[in-house]
Amino acid sequence: VSGRWVALDLDGTLVDCRARQVALAAALVPALEQKRFWAAKRSGASTFAALVACDVTSDEAETAARRWAERIEDDGWLVLDRPLAGAADALARLRRSGLRLLVLTARRRVVAVRAQLASLGFAAQVDATEIVDPADASAYKAVVLRRYDAVALIGDTESDARAAGAAGVRFLGVASGQRSRDFLAAHGVEPVYEGVLDAVAAL
Ligand SMILES: [Mg+2]
Repeated sequence: VSGRWVALDLDGTLVDCRARQVALAAALVPALEQKRFWAAKRSGASTFAALVACDVTSDEAETAARRWAERIEDDGWLVLDRPLAGAADALARLRRSGLRLLVLTARRRVVAVRAQLASLGFAAQVDATEIVDPADASAYKAVVLRRYDAVALIGDTESDARAAGAAGVRFLGVASGQRSRDFLAAHGVEPVYEGVLDAVAAL
């Protein structure tokens, strides 16, 4: 794969991942304390554990978490996604530097990813899209990073940091997504920027 590539994660890095996750959880558990749920997920909890942390019974949480995982990439929920602040500027800035842009995500539906990149106005800036098996996202992301010989990965999770580390690729973390700054610091993830535009400026 020719050119100098920068890889960017999608959820939590380019796209705000809160609204869709919280809205679906609240649809499945109507009495859910949404702020608490999201804080738990940002602190590293699984969907199940975050529900339990919100005093949902373990039986109800198990059913809801399973349904949540089945539906989280349905088109009806994906429409809630919005670009994160600075994402479009960040992509434009990278492109102006002569870099090629790879969106690297552990979502399951590549067709929906491409449709969303178009609807959010990102498609013209993105040179390639790769999805990897979420069952072992960091290992599979590392494989793709090596294949593209990427110069860097920008991402919002410890899994992204592991992928970059395994591939020997520079990692730039953002605190705008699935993990809080405190969680990332506690897991030795660094450097961490406020959002993707700050990460790109540092790059
Ligand atoms: Mg992400």
